[in-house]
Amino acid sequence: MYYEPINCRALTSKDYLEIWSICLRHIAEKINPRSFKTWFEPIKPIKLESKVLTIQVPNKFFYEWLEEHYIGVIGEGLRIALGPAGRLEYQIVVDDYKKVKASESFNRVPDDNSIDIASKKIKNPFVIPGLRRPKVDPQLKPSYTFENFIEGDCNRLARSAGLAIAKKPGGNAFNPLFIFGDVGLGKTHLAQAIGNEIITMFDDKNVIYVSSEKLTNQIVHALKSNSIDELVNFYQMIDVLIVDDIQFLANRPKTQEIFFHIFNHLHQIGNQIILTSDRPPKDLNGMQDRLISRFKWGISADLVAPDFETKLAIAKAKIKDDPIRLPEDVLEFICYNIKTSIRELEGVLITLIAQSALNNKEIDIPLTKEVIKHFIAQMSDEVTVESISKLVAEHFEVPLEKLHSKTRKRSIVIARQLSMYLAKLMTNKSLKHIGNNLGGRDHTTVLYACRSVQNLMDTDQLFKDTVFTLEKKIRMSLHSV
Ligand code: ADP
Ligand code: MG
Repeated sequence: MYYEPINCRALTSKDYLEIWSICLRHIAEKINPRSFKTWFEPIKPIKLESKVLTIQVPNKFFYEWLEEHYIGVIGEGLRIALGPAGRLEYQIVVDDYKKVKASESFNRVPDDNSIDIASKKIKNPFVIPGLRRPKVDPQLKPSYTFENFIEGDCNRLARSAGLAIAKKPGGNAFNPLFIFGDVGLGKTHLAQAIGNEIITMFDDKNVIYVSSEKLTNQIVHALKSNSIDELVNFYQMIDVLIVDDIQFLANRPKTQEIFFHIFNHLHQIGNQIILTSDRPPKDLNGMQDRLISRFKWGISADLVAPDFETKLAIAKAKIKDDPIRLPEDVLEFICYNIKTSIRELEGVLITLIAQSALNNKEIDIPLTKEVIKHFIAQMSDEVTVESISKLVAEHFEVPLEKLHSKTRKRSIVIARQLSMYLAKLMTNKSLKHIGNNLGGRDHTTVLYACRSVQNLMDTDQLFKDTVFTLEKKIRMSLHSV
């Protein structure tokens, strides 16, 4: 690969952007696009002084990860861009919290402390009955493992952070790990996978998984029965504390206060805390600021809706041990249509398998359609100009309203023309109707669009593939009414 010989002329400090983009071009060629997106896109080049390039990474975890996994390829990129004397320095984004933290450690019991954390009575609310010596039951579901947590763009950062924590609980910069995302996207699974991995790797670590509701109930009960010190002391001796759905602590000041003391203590002694939430820390209304700021101390990682391939991999993994087989086209049909939650995806699979086992029905597309319609209301089979343009806009990641607008931007024009072409191909609507529904254009524009798409398909194989993919997606999708 040939690069512009930037180092033929004298470098100035203004060249930092260009130097970093040369590095990035090299790195992008050497690693897979997903890793590139996760680990290199968030990096900002900051400055260049002599031959030292400074880049900013979002947190210490990032830095450690880059050093461990990508140092070779970064070094190569740097040598290409800066020559053999090139060096790299990292700048880690630091919140003001470090200052807060330093001052707080002089004042171990800040604010309105009403809990005697000096007393060391320990009562275990998770005693396994029947054992002579009380043993902490981690409350984990053994099936939630990393092995069956499928990796995808949607969860890469959270999963990697989780794995790193499982290797070295508490011994990382990412404490707490704050996992957030919409319902059904795998927060509980991932948080428990970390716990399960830790109990297999470390005999001596006490891990506890607790939902926020359960924790709240325990606190309410302990306050009533005057045993709050014991409860707090119990949690303060846990090595890895996993609290699920922390958003439920919102607007519960007393519970928050008690959780604050547990959190502080564990954090100070370097024990690991893992939290999940349906939203990022900054959006936790009704949560005390001091807690929110602590939630940001470590690393926040979000889980987003999986793409088609990841959904398909998850679906296959979920049914791999089931004696009932689902045809590939059925699996694809489900993944095209379930857009948001993996829990919903599982719901559809389970219902289909049950229908097949109990009612002896063959699992085919018509049956699957019926089942999916129970999960997603207001879906129809009918392909319309609107449903086509919606899917095309989604595919090209352009706003739908742009297809209706007058803009002549190349990417929008292509998406608009493609919508017209597919509408002509897949609906029996007139050219006039199609034009009307795509920004009030006349039938000659639609005709012209269809010809342009056809021409492009004849000359550009990649474009042709895209058209076929979209056509399949539209055929395989139920459409909102
Ligand atoms: P949340 O806690 O975010 O609401 P869950 O952790 O309960 O979601 O996940 C919902 C279902 O989806 C679970 O059965 C879980 O096993 C499954 N799931 C989520 N993400 C994945 C994944 N990446 N691989 C495999 N299964 C997943
Ligand atoms: Mg959950």
